[in-house]
Amino acid sequence: MITFEHVSKVYPDGTHAVHDLTFGAPSGRLTVLVGPSGCGKTTSMRMINRLIDPTEGVVSLDGQDTRSVDAIDLRRKIGYVIQSAGLFPHRTVVDNVAALPRLLGVGKKEARARALELLAKVGLDERFALRYPYQLSGGQQQRVGVARALATDPPFLLMDEPFSAVDPVVRTQLQDSFLQLQRDIGKTIVMVTHDIDEALKLGDQVAVFREGGTLAQVASPAELLAHPADPFVADFVGASRGYRALGFVEATATVQLADEAMVRLGARPADLGEVDGGWCVVVDDAEAPLGWVDLRTAGDVVEERHIDFSGTVARADGSLRDLLDAALSSPTGRGLVAGPDGRLRGSVGAAEVLRHLGRGREAEVAS
Ligand code: ADP
Ligand code: MG
Repeated sequence: MITFEHVSKVYPDGTHAVHDLTFGAPSGRLTVLVGPSGCGKTTSMRMINRLIDPTEGVVSLDGQDTRSVDAIDLRRKIGYVIQSAGLFPHRTVVDNVAALPRLLGVGKKEARARALELLAKVGLDERFALRYPYQLSGGQQQRVGVARALATDPPFLLMDEPFSAVDPVVRTQLQDSFLQLQRDIGKTIVMVTHDIDEALKLGDQVAVFREGGTLAQVASPAELLAHPADPFVADFVGASRGYRALGFVEATATVQLADEAMVRLGARPADLGEVDGGWCVVVDDAEAPLGWVDLRTAGDVVEERHIDFSGTVARADGSLRDLLDAALSSPTGRGLVAGPDGRLRGSVGAAEVLRHLGRGREAEVAS
């Protein structure tokens, strides 16, 4: 656990960067500091590994005041990832990752072997190991940055805008693979971002900062969306809060799925007999749904060009938001739902999803 108690920072030029900060980042969880630019997020984070000293207050790690620990010893326990990776340009990828363990006396062979393992963990193929940073894309460099921060297996990890410098598609990939990694390694993480969507997606806990370095609210993503503490937080969290909050409500087994007729690519509609309404789900050989076909307008054989791909496919174990989105985007109003194995389970209508939401709300009010 990382704890801030009444921590303030005033820079020598009189700038009040952080004001009376009190909150905890729980062990094994990812806490995100989010807020507009200049509101003291980076300053707060750098007070954890003592790159910056607080003017007032106490920062502690697992109950130990960081000022009572030697700064170098402290930083060995805290991995640090910065925007655009900050890799050593004249060292190969594998040596970037192995650098700190080597410095701490780990043998070359062992450090490199461990580095290769870590590179695999962050989703980088072995063939990148001997490249230099300039031979990698921004997203790949960022993966190396994460591997390097984990090289000494520190219990704590600080990440300052780690995914902000890459394009949106790569950012989504990095976020997804990082979430996967964290499920595996369970580090105590503090991450800084200015992007509220990233904060809500990644954070177990989100701390919203406002100008002047004060804390506006600390809460889970679902709680922030459902109950923003004040107009500033409500505005910062943004529009469509009700809909986005559905992303944190799991689709339970009690959502009723309707059976759907399936047709494979290359099938002959004439052989299928009467299909209700003419719309039918096209599936691939593994029975994964591809989209819908209207058998009244398809030709003699169902081909790819007959498929309406507009609907999203929700996972049966996904969120109510995914289910509702599948229903709303479907040309039939029936959202396609697949199991964890990717096979078609059935369909769900918007009314069925909303019926569940209604139940959840009533239960909340009753309790
Ligand atoms: P954020 O990471 O939220 O964008 P920072 O923590 O970097 O914000 O900065 C908070 C405030 O402190 C800003 O007004 C910034 O200009 C100021 N600041 C940051 N570093 C220094 C410094 N070394 N000296 C003076 N002011 C600084
Ligand atoms: Mg910053």
